[in-house]
Amino acid sequence: MLKVFEDFDITLVGHYQSILEAEGIATFMKNQFGTSGAGELPFIEVIPQLWVLNEADAGRAEGLIRDLRHPGGPDLLQAWDCPACGTSHEAAFTQCWNCSTLRPDPPGEKN
Ligand SMILES: [Zn+2]
Repeated sequence: MLKVFEDFDITLVGHYQSILEAEGIATFMKNQFGTSGAGELPFIEVIPQLWVLNEADAGRAEGLIRDLRHPGGPDLLQAWDCPACGTSHEAAFTQCWNCSTLRPDPPGEKN
């Protein structure tokens, strides 16, 4: 399995899941009920995550989600490195947890 999307908005994750399923991509949602334990679990553990069961579908799934989020725009789903301290972050983070630097604007289209 490969994770293709995560967001604290479970409605959004569920929406993308239904779209991927409609495209014939088998998916699995993790942390679907995680928010109920948000007070006890580490922050990262309760982000609803969308996974694809077949890694062969991951590229297509990521492309679909990217188009949904930012039609023709820059890819904000990429993991990023803090420009100030170099810490690596998952795409869901908009601010460096280490030094509080905000995520820089993405460099534009990849590939
Ligand atoms: Zn930093």
